Amino acid sequence: MNNEIKDKKRVFIVEDEPDILELIALNLKKAGYEVDKFSEAGPMLAMLKKKVPDLLILDLMLPDHDGLDVCKTLKNDKKYPDFPIIMVTARTEELDVVLGLELGADDYISKPFSPRELVARVKAVLRRNKPPAARTSKKIAIGHILTIDTARYDVLVKDEKIQLTATEFMILKILAEKPGWVFSREKILAGLWGDEKDVFDRTVDVHIKNLREKLGPAGDLIKNVRGVGYKLSNDE
Ligand code: CA
Repeated sequence: MNNEIKDKKRVFIVEDEPDILELIALNLKKAGYEVDKFSEAGPMLAMLKKKVPDLLILDLMLPDHDGLDVCKTLKNDKKYPDFPIIMVTARTEELDVVLGLELGADDYISKPFSPRELVARVKAVLRRNKPPAARTSKKIAIGHILTIDTARYDVLVKDEKIQLTATEFMILKILAEKPGWVFSREKILAGLWGDEKDVFDRTVDVHIKNLREKLGPAGDLIKNVRGVGYKLSNDE
């Protein structure tokens, strides 16, 4: 197909270890992506004035900046455009992962990782971030306080708009489309990743935790069904 070339997605990679930078770049190019490589965060932030990527792969330990700060800046500072971020971390502490996801990163991958796994993550995150095909809005109301517009990607709690990451939104959508149904972590992951689910089970728990916090008073609508998974429901 001709428009496949035109539709080539651009990925920015920030990684200070040259071998890993090359490995990521090579595999993404092979998978059909345009890549821009950066060994520090500063030049990448400067480049954003000229071009905007479809996705950013961001190492957390960089010589010039802490990756978590970069993530926070990109997600909170209105002067930067919005694009998904996959964090790369050598730190195995779960705290960093949780913090990164709270700061708005869409996913993370821990070193060492296989190139195949990385490419699968990139594909899945980009797929989830696709703009809705239909412009018609489809609203789901749970109880009196939570409204989800699945076409416009809007979530309202008591008429106040809530900012969610793409992953949090997708999880909420999966649960909300069948209120009262119990979804196992496995089922939620399958909904998020399709055939490319190569992620840890606990990612779901981290996203759900963040989602509940962001939903505030509506957070209690997401119920943990012990030993099984989660459901979204207005009843006890
Ligand atoms: Ca590093």
